[in-house]
Amino acid sequence: MLRFEDIAFGPVHSRRLGSSLGVNLLPAHGKLCNFDCIYCECGWNRDGAGDRSMPSPEDVRAALTDKLEKCSRGGIGIDSITFSGNGEPTLNPAFADIIDIVLELRDRYYPKAKVSVLSNATMVGKKDIFNALRKVDNPILKIDASSTEGVMLINRPAGHYDLLETVENLKRFEGDFILQTMFLKSPEFDSAEKANLAAWMELVRELRPREIMVYTLDRETPEKDLTKYSVDEMTKMVRPLIDAGFSIQIRG
Ligand code: SF4
Repeated sequence: MLRFEDIAFGPVHSRRLGSSLGVNLLPAHGKLCNFDCIYCECGWNRDGAGDRSMPSPEDVRAALTDKLEKCSRGGIGIDSITFSGNGEPTLNPAFADIIDIVLELRDRYYPKAKVSVLSNATMVGKKDIFNALRKVDNPILKIDASSTEGVMLINRPAGHYDLLETVENLKRFEGDFILQTMFLKSPEFDSAEKANLAAWMELVRELRPREIMVYTLDRETPEKDLTKYSVDEMTKMVRPLIDAGFSIQIRG
C-alpha cells in the first residue's frame, strides 16, 4: 500500500493536478483517517503501524522550505502543492496554522503554483477548518455517494456521519470548491446504479461546485472485489451534467 514517510514528498505527476508536491500532515508510519474507504490507497486503518504522531507547524515549515529550495535550485516545475498523504489532512490539530505557512512559502518560492487540499469534507463544519479551506486555491472535497447509507458502504466513517450535514456545510462554499467523486462498483454499491447516479447528480446541482473531478480506481485497494469504470463509461454517466454546463474532469 502507498505510504508517505516524508512531510514533503515528490513532486509526482498527478492525473488531476500536474506536477504535484505532496504535503503529508499525518503520521509517517500509519494511516490516520476518520473514513476507511474500501478503495483507500493507504490501506485499512487497522493495518497502520499505530503511529499517531503528526508534524507540527514548525516541522512543516522546515521540511517544505528545504524541499522548495531544492526544487527551485534544480529548476523543477511545481503546479500544485498538495495536501494529501497518509489520511485526512484536516485531522492535524494545527491544520489552519499550517495552511498559512504553506501559502507563505508558496508565495515565496513558487508563486504560480496552486495550493490544493484533498479532504473528505468531514471537518468543514468546524470554523477554523472552513476558513483555512477558503484560503487555498483548490479545496478538493469528497462526496462519493448520495446517501448516508451509501457513504457507510464506500467510505466507512468512524463514529457519527450524516451526509445531509456535510452537504449543508459544503453549501457555505457557495460553489467555490472542487467536488471529487470516486466511481466504482463493489458487491454492495454501484456508482452507476440509476437511483444512486440520479441522486448524486441532484446533489451536484444543489452544490454547484466550480469543478467536478470524477475518477476511478488506479492503484491497489484494501477491498479486493472492486471494479473500475472506463473514461467512456464515466463520461456517459455524467453526460447530463456536462450538457448542463458543469466543468468536469474525468480520469480513468
Ligand atoms: S478519505 Fe481518503 S485517506 Fe481517508 S480512507 Fe478515504 S481515501 Fe483513504
